[in-house]
Amino acid sequence: MKKFLKFVSVFLLFSVFVSLSSCQSVSLKDREKKEKPYIVCTVFPQYDFVRNITGDKATVELLIPPGAETHAFGLKDLSVKKIDELYNADLFVCAGGEIDEQLEKELKKMLPQSVRFAELTQFAGELLLESEAENGEDSKKDEVHRSESEEDYDGHVWTSPKRACAIVAKLTDEICETDPNNQAFYRENAREYLSQLEELDRLLEDTVSGAKFRTLIFADRFPFRYLCHDYGIEADAAFEGCSTAVEPSLMTLNRLYEKAMDLRLPAILYTETGDRSYAENLAQKIGGKALLLHSCHEISAKEFQTATYLSMQRQNIETLKVALGSGE
Ligand SMILES: [Zn+2]
Repeated sequence: MKKFLKFVSVFLLFSVFVSLSSCQSVSLKDREKKEKPYIVCTVFPQYDFVRNITGDKATVELLIPPGAETHAFGLKDLSVKKIDELYNADLFVCAGGEIDEQLEKELKKMLPQSVRFAELTQFAGELLLESEAENGEDSKKDEVHRSESEEDYDGHVWTSPKRACAIVAKLTDEICETDPNNQAFYRENAREYLSQLEELDRLLEDTVSGAKFRTLIFADRFPFRYLCHDYGIEADAAFEGCSTAVEPSLMTLNRLYEKAMDLRLPAILYTETGDRSYAENLAQKIGGKALLLHSCHEISAKEFQTATYLSMQRQNIETLKVALGSGE
């Protein structure tokens, strides 16, 4: 009997603990959801845009963690706990294009229809195809990867500050519809943030208009199609877009070397997504510099602590001044 009572009391204690803990987690989630809208962003640029618009009036989360390979990230990389939390999201902001379309499809299938979805590519004006610009031989390696996608347009729309302005304006509307009670606050924040983006646009226009060169050479991937298109810069790169390939062929490297020599370019560029050693080797051969142009979406854990879209783009402008011989 004593043993039975002990069993009953342990069982009751366990039941109380389970019900208490589940109550607590539900009530915490509900309270968070009630107090603040929960906005989930797949990659860094929109995470930074959204937090600038919402300030502390929304819970804003970066879904693909710093240091992760953005293009390869899927639902399989999320913990059960995280997936459970995502059911409470009010708004998902995806990039669109080849960047996160698989993840977006999986999330849309899984989450209730009440969850809103927005894509940066919807807000960024006319989209460009990955194959539109002059690009490297090695891009052909990526054809299988691209043909699996329904649309092979380039999704790195934020790399152009002009498009970042359009994106932020439309994202603000989206956030105001999600949380109409705070719309005056969001619109005021957006107005201030947009003035900084417009300043970035002016700086970039000045940099290009005062430039000696109009061509950039990337011994790397090429997520800057929109930046180059919108500011009248030509580019040649080892790969189209953020190709899955990372090792350029000797033929491609030779083509880039000859072009850089012909045009007497002062620098070879690389991105944060690839292997900088190819740019460093080419730069050494042409007697120039190897420089990083940051596409702001594959950020490291260290960068995540302090970097912003604006800080990375301001640094990019300094890089472009050197690479384009601006002000010489
Ligand atoms: Zn990319």
